[in-house]
Amino acid sequence: MVFTGLRAMIYSIPMMRNVYIWGPSLIRQGLRSLYKATPEHGPVHILFCVADHFEPKWNGADPQREKERVRRWNEEYPKNASRHWDGNGRPPQHTWFYAAEQYNPVCLEAMSRLCTSGFGEIELHLHHGYDTADGLKEKLERAKEDFAQHGALITQGEPPRHA
Ligand SMILES: [Zn+2]
Repeated sequence: MVFTGLRAMIYSIPMMRNVYIWGPSLIRQGLRSLYKATPEHGPVHILFCVADHFEPKWNGADPQREKERVRRWNEEYPKNASRHWDGNGRPPQHTWFYAAEQYNPVCLEAMSRLCTSGFGEIELHLHHGYDTADGLKEKLERAKEDFAQHGALITQGEPPRHA
């Protein structure tokens, strides 16, 4: 679907909490912007951002459950995403915000295959509290190293660099 107009609409929805309250007015506002768009202004890019707080170990999952969650993503997401595409023929791009302190090389490698297959990217999130600046820095540096082993958090330029 191609929309025309100069304005690009970018909506970032950090949380779906109370979406029934703010969602309708957000959609109305977006539709108004589309209606005002005119062909001479060029294409309108509509981006939806749904942040996935990706934690396969969530809620105390044992290693088998963790593995099963990752397996389902790898099997089912490509099937579903491949049925949809944007104006450039690209499927929806999912961003998995993987919890750094739950690092599991097998799981991260599996998710990385989804990304290299063209379905999205892996970003980092970290749970920490009562931390120090040095402690946080150490955790982030370690996470960058861990993630980079699987092609996550590196730039696409040549040569690839850590983010
Ligand atoms: Zn989290």
